[in-house]
Amino acid sequence: MGEVQSNSQGSLLRELSPAIFYKNINRQPPSTLDHKKALLQKNNNQLNQIQQQQQQQQQQQQQYTHAHLQNLFIKNFVIDSEKQQEYQEYIKNNGIKEFLNNYLPSTVSKKQLAEILLNLGYSKILLQDYVILTNKEMVIILVKLLQEQHQIYEDEEKEKLKSIPKQPIIYQKIPTMQYDLQKFLQDLCLSTKIMVITGAGISTSLGIPDFRSNQGLYTQLKKLNLSDPQLVFNYEMFKKTPDLFYGNAHLVLPPDGQYTLLHAFLKLIQDKGKLLRNYTQNIDNLESVAGIEHSKLIQCHGSFATATCLTCKLKFQGPKIYDHIRKKQVPRCSSCWTNIQEATIDHGVIKPDITFFGEDLPDVFHKKIPFDKNECDLVIVCGTSLKVEPVASIIDEIPGKVPKILINKDPLPDRGFNLSLIGFCDEIVGFLAKVLGSDWDIPHIDYNKEQNYSWVKTDLYNTYHINKRN
Ligand SMILES: [Zn+2]
Repeated sequence: MGEVQSNSQGSLLRELSPAIFYKNINRQPPSTLDHKKALLQKNNNQLNQIQQQQQQQQQQQQQYTHAHLQNLFIKNFVIDSEKQQEYQEYIKNNGIKEFLNNYLPSTVSKKQLAEILLNLGYSKILLQDYVILTNKEMVIILVKLLQEQHQIYEDEEKEKLKSIPKQPIIYQKIPTMQYDLQKFLQDLCLSTKIMVITGAGISTSLGIPDFRSNQGLYTQLKKLNLSDPQLVFNYEMFKKTPDLFYGNAHLVLPPDGQYTLLHAFLKLIQDKGKLLRNYTQNIDNLESVAGIEHSKLIQCHGSFATATCLTCKLKFQGPKIYDHIRKKQVPRCSSCWTNIQEATIDHGVIKPDITFFGEDLPDVFHKKIPFDKNECDLVIVCGTSLKVEPVASIIDEIPGKVPKILINKDPLPDRGFNLSLIGFCDEIVGFLAKVLGSDWDIPHIDYNKEQNYSWVKTDLYNTYHINKRN
């Protein structure tokens, strides 16, 4: 049993606990027989010899007493269960190396080492040679035991994992990207291919009802006592009773020449060369009115911009039938009605080019979406609860690296948005424009750059509630 050499290389101890390693702990070498003989030879005096023997006996007695006390310390040691738990937790969470660094003082005594070993719950038998063990040997014992113990912890964890029954995978669209409002503002400035998906919520501030809210169109249509208010927009129903649609279409007719602050914000994005495409579910055509170019706009459910005769397929400009819509009259194609021989109920009826239930989406949607979903560098969804397919699923097909932002009255917590800005659409873009600075002043009569806003971040999923403040 040697001493701890401060210059020995590659020692496990040095690796695990440098502070202890470099402390040179000396141990007195034991007296040897040769040494005793030399003493005897040097001193032949009987008395001296007796004295020497007496001295040796005294020394042995003292040594015995000391060893006895030391062994009593081990024998009578009571484990401190709080410390035991603390040590074990620490090792589990931080590993052996950190434990040694944290719990072994730089000048450690044998007694302290023994306390740690015993408090860790190791058997007292391990320390039966306590009296003759060096500090180094005790540290080696400690490290070895800890390594074994740690392996047991790891094995236990593996077993635990094995024993967990396999759960069915629940598809939860929880965003993993680190994202926040600041990042979105940067992305707005840097992006060049923004996809914007819009819904009824961007037009409600003009009095155009959305479809599914409590004040929405379907709620208003309940008075018709239809089995399903969506029948008003059903293609087969339209052919049988065009009056049903035209009796209610005024409710969704866009006001002349008006558009919202949000529409103007989209136009601004376009003017900055950042708009890849605006996919809108709205039929009010206000994106066009605001100036979104035909090539940048996909009206997924068609629009009131044009209309078609069901019989001869002649195309009409939408506003030509607006008067009929306001008066709740069914517009008819003049060329079909001049040649009328035998009228059916749908003969020469003009239908606005909005997509009814039972009709396919416009071809342009199917042509553009496969390209755009891989091309966009930022997706902003505005004013829609994403309830109607296939538009609702677009965001699920956007690559994960592309940030997806929601601007809406209500959060959609399970749709995987990286950031949700909750409030009125017009107020939110007013806020964004103000924060982005004068380059982003929205060209709209309702834009007020002096307006103050309050915004509150409400949860882990980057949801901000934004409101005007007076
Ligand atoms: Zn016609």
